[in-house]
Amino acid sequence: MARILKTSGSKSIPPKRRRVLRRTTDHLDERLIQLQALHRISTLINSTFNLEEILKVLTDSMARDLDFDRTGVVFLDRNSQKPFQSAYASFTPVEFRLILEHYDSLLLPALDKEDIFIETADNPPPQWAHFLNLLSAMSVCLLPMRVKSRLIGFAIGVRNHRLMHLSDDQRRFFSMFVSQASTAIENARLYEALGQSNLTLEEKVQERTRDLLQANTRLLELDQIKSNFISMVSHELRTPLTAIKGFIVTLFHYDKEISEEKRHLYLGVLNEETDRLTRLITELLDISRIESGRIDIQWSTVVVPDLVQRVFETLSMKAAAVRFEKNFSVDFPEVFADSDKLEQVLINLIGNALKYSPSDSRVVVRGRRIDDEVEISIEDEGPGIPESEHEKIFDKFYRQDNEINRKSPGTGLGLPICRTLVNLHGGKIWVESQLGQGCKFKFTLPFNLDKAGR
Ligand code: ADP
Repeated sequence: MARILKTSGSKSIPPKRRRVLRRTTDHLDERLIQLQALHRISTLINSTFNLEEILKVLTDSMARDLDFDRTGVVFLDRNSQKPFQSAYASFTPVEFRLILEHYDSLLLPALDKEDIFIETADNPPPQWAHFLNLLSAMSVCLLPMRVKSRLIGFAIGVRNHRLMHLSDDQRRFFSMFVSQASTAIENARLYEALGQSNLTLEEKVQERTRDLLQANTRLLELDQIKSNFISMVSHELRTPLTAIKGFIVTLFHYDKEISEEKRHLYLGVLNEETDRLTRLITELLDISRIESGRIDIQWSTVVVPDLVQRVFETLSMKAAAVRFEKNFSVDFPEVFADSDKLEQVLINLIGNALKYSPSDSRVVVRGRRIDDEVEISIEDEGPGIPESEHEKIFDKFYRQDNEINRKSPGTGLGLPICRTLVNLHGGKIWVESQLGQGCKFKFTLPFNLDKAGR
């Protein structure tokens, strides 16, 4: 290191003055070395935001510039205030673990006490004597790192064979060193936190984008369903009305010319088409009542097998080629339910089973008790429903796009109405099916009074 003042060629200077000059020169030399060290450290630690690298630079610099034989730097966790990340040089891992083990009992109180804490083997308190002994050290120095008076970490330096006494200048230098270190560590930590929050923000943006895309897809689906509904309702209303109008016009204008047989046939068609209109309007009214919450359950005791039998009889006119069967377990209890609503559910489900059944097949209604619920299933041998549609068929106005549906009319409201009615009873409804293997529509009803929500 170049000295600042030349001392050679100063023979003419009186000895006392020369001594003063030498002291000043030495002092200035030391300050210069310290300043250069500070500059080097600050350049190094400010060139990165990587905490690990900064800790490493600091330990190396403590050995080199602060003249320690063994060094370590510890960064504390912001919340727990416990050692979180550290780097050390020349300590063995066992020694460094000892240091960390003594953090709470010995080091923390010392760090809280002083800005630069030094303990030497020269008559130390017993705990410190033991600590120095464990580390085989003559002096230990602790440098607390603070940001706005909050302790964020500390540096520890050990001298193996020398007692350590710091001059005021050295103290100032140590303080500046540690303040540089604190700022660098805090910046790195903030940078890490910023990176983390950027990441979280990015994840959130991606998540929201996914949600929006899903919502958009759903809206497009709903839009499609709505358009289907409008065209379906217009078609469903117009078809029977056209037939009704046509036959009424015929009967009105050609009353006298029409044979009794034809009149009977026309009235039959009028009857059927009016039924179809009534059914459509009833379903539309049901769904609108359900949606506006204007639906009441009239609780009473219901014998489900009897109700099923009644539905079989109602539908039997349309079921010439299909066999209805019912199979209820002997312990099947009476349930508390709204008889009319339950009948409506059964008519929809058994009616669907019938609609999709090939001729000469069976529709079986089974009932059994499971704990304090009953489970009723309606099984058919029709085309079945692929798994991807199992939930969709319970959406309002949803109809599968297939041959049977294209030929036979329907609103896509039957199953959503069933689901709402079953749910109002405190039960669940679902379908078990695979394409080509028939359907099992199942629903449960609690027969326990509390569960029925009365
Ligand atoms: P709709 O019968 O008026 O079309 P639903 O809500 O009752 O309306 O049924 C919705 C859709 O579920 C039907 O269009 C049909 O595709 C399918 N589905 C319902 N029951 C059955 C069944 N037993 N077998 C096959 N598909 C069925």
